[in-house]
Amino acid sequence: MSYYLFDFSDIPLYSFDEVPDHQQGNSYVIRGYRAKLLDRQCMKSVLRLSNQLVNIWTHGGLFILLIPLMIHDHIRLLPSMGASTWDNFSFLIYHVCTQSCFLASAGYHTFNCHLREEVAARWLACDCYGVVTGVTGIYVVTIYQAFTCNKISRICYLTAVVALVLASRRTMLHPGYFSKLWEKYRILHFSTFVALGCLIAVHWCIISTSEELETFLPEVVINFVIIALALLILVTKVPERFSPGSFDYFGQSHNWWHILVGVAFLRWRQFAINYLNYRLNTSCVSSQEPW
Ligand SMILES: [Zn+2]
Repeated sequence: MSYYLFDFSDIPLYSFDEVPDHQQGNSYVIRGYRAKLLDRQCMKSVLRLSNQLVNIWTHGGLFILLIPLMIHDHIRLLPSMGASTWDNFSFLIYHVCTQSCFLASAGYHTFNCHLREEVAARWLACDCYGVVTGVTGIYVVTIYQAFTCNKISRICYLTAVVALVLASRRTMLHPGYFSKLWEKYRILHFSTFVALGCLIAVHWCIISTSEELETFLPEVVINFVIIALALLILVTKVPERFSPGSFDYFGQSHNWWHILVGVAFLRWRQFAINYLNYRLNTSCVSSQEPW
């Protein structure tokens, strides 16, 4: 006798050729597709071994694990460091944005097999908004800390981030945005966020003291390399491209994208905390004012 929750006879798995078009995003993943499910079945399928199980739980798990981290940061860590109200607010934005990103991602991978294509499409939109929101959180907290001594630059960059987020929303409302045909444009769109990050990082290198560069530049470089690697893996569909069908359940490119995004988000938080600690113990030098 099987316990109902673990009886997955109502959630059959399909091959790539058998699922609807909107689920055929990666032809190198051949088996393990859930498809044509109702809400309840989608929810139940988060426990079923499928080609989305790792995708659901990498970000779903991070969402759960980061709740205590958020509480820890605001109840213990930041007050113990002597952080200001605005420092606290910037970290709150980071936590809320990254949590939204992980939750939306887990939701998309849970419901992308829905019977109604418009439901799956709505969740894809949520997932993409989630990435934009998560990146916004990283920008806000790192710009706020890294440009503490350059308040005009800080305001300019925070304004640019808000403008980019609003422009993104407009772009993403285009009817074709979430179609399969627009996949490359979507990746290009997300790459503009990385490009803005590079621009800000170069400016930061120019205005920072040698001590700051020595302390923080290696962290910045590593974080950008992780994000670049994550995007490269997502676009090239490595490793499954080299062995179609071998990574259907574990180790497909989207799994690595999720893991690397999670690592990058956590590393940017640590970067902001380290910077805050540095700023609270170091005065600004006159050459850094006001730009
Ligand atoms: Zn995903």
